[in-house]
Amino acid sequence: MDYKTQCFIGGEWRGSFQTFPIISPRDGKHLADVPLMGRAEAKEAIEAASYAFREWKNETAWTRADKLREWHALIQKNKKRLAAIISAEQGKSEAEAMVEMDFAASYVEWYAEEARRVSGEIIQHPVKGSRGLVIREPVGVVAAITPWNFPAAMVARKLSPALAAGCSIVLKPAEATPLTAIELIALAEEAGFPAGVINLITGNPQEIGKELCESKKVAKLSFTGSTATGRLLLSQCAGTIKKTVMELGGNAPFIIFADANLEEAAKAVIASRFRNHGQACICANRIIVENPVCDELSKRIAKLAAEFPPLPLINRKASEKILGLLDDAKAKGACILLGGNANGNFFEPTVISGVTPGMRIFQEEIFGPVAAICNFQKLDEAVNLANDTEAGLAAYIYSVNLDKAWKTADQIRTGMVGINSIAISAASSPFGGMNQSGMGREGRHFGIEEYLEVKYISMGGF
Ligand code: ADP
Repeated sequence: MDYKTQCFIGGEWRGSFQTFPIISPRDGKHLADVPLMGRAEAKEAIEAASYAFREWKNETAWTRADKLREWHALIQKNKKRLAAIISAEQGKSEAEAMVEMDFAASYVEWYAEEARRVSGEIIQHPVKGSRGLVIREPVGVVAAITPWNFPAAMVARKLSPALAAGCSIVLKPAEATPLTAIELIALAEEAGFPAGVINLITGNPQEIGKELCESKKVAKLSFTGSTATGRLLLSQCAGTIKKTVMELGGNAPFIIFADANLEEAAKAVIASRFRNHGQACICANRIIVENPVCDELSKRIAKLAAEFPPLPLINRKASEKILGLLDDAKAKGACILLGGNANGNFFEPTVISGVTPGMRIFQEEIFGPVAAICNFQKLDEAVNLANDTEAGLAAYIYSVNLDKAWKTADQIRTGMVGINSIAISAASSPFGGMNQSGMGREGRHFGIEEYLEVKYISMGGF
């Protein structure tokens, strides 16, 4: 397959002398080389975005919606090719990559619709004869830093609301998966976004990140990635009081009560845990099972997990991290029911039981095909276990007793909860976390509001 490999700054496609390779996690094949850009190019991209913003912010919402609709149509038309690129550079199957493409396209479509719904308020004022207007205007140049686990969806989820709001963009995709982003931006160019409205640079994350965070011309940073990197970026943004949307790591509890439909619950655990080979921040990370059914459910989960082959993770480092988590858990008394081994970046489907809060595997995001099971006796204990983490992104509850499920959902500190459901993420719903899983929301009207400032104008009276 031929890949586009250039960066896009101010409406021009650009290469660079220095490049870095993109290697497929599926078979170690060299796919392409992309530009190794740094601070200077980041500055240029910010300048281009800043210049383009002056016009783009004044375009009508209808024009912005039209461009997004055109982009959506082109993504749909090219989604097979895009899915093949995702699969090659990220490692998920083409079928799973097609699901990601539909998910990605749904954000572009949603924000093509949402663009025209941005509105304000007319409000009372305590001074006689005075009225207040609340309007919303685009926040300005947006820097978007995206991760490798959903190379298309994360780009679409950030760019489309920002574009709909009237912002211009500098995008830096992850080093492992820039090819999907480049292809998407080429389609955006074809859709007719004016030069400079969308810019894309690949390269040194530290250098580019520093410029994006420290530049006074960037109004907002939208980041999805690890909590550690999010923390660093937040500190770099402090100097310019930059607004941020932070979608950071999760550590989702998956609580299963004894009354749940065990067959469905086991299938849901596998679907949630093994999605994207376990590399999704909303994946079930800790399977918290009521005591009487814990053995039975563990067996069912292990049986279903055993049907999977070893799955490719993004790189060998990811496997090594998980092996470390398993060693720590075993040393502290956990029991491997299935798998537990890696061959390079390929990880066996793994099920481990007897997990407790003192283990790293309970506290850290696993990011691989490993189901870590612990048990509880009472509802309060389940809630305490679920909340015993710095993260707060997603949680899942399986029970046929809705009263119990609601009580549990009410007490869990996460931005999203699925009750007898794992399909919680959609363009029509707010995605985001509490605690150290970040701030801000993506999706629905919440997503576009992140890229709008509230301005209050008071008129009349004295
Ligand atoms: P992971 O450890 O899973 O790769 P990261 O949070 O490091 O997750 O990566 C998510 C995104 O953050 C990627 O686009 C990566 O290039 C970027 N990134 C990593 N470190 C920095 C940094 N110091 N400054 C800016 N971006 C960074």
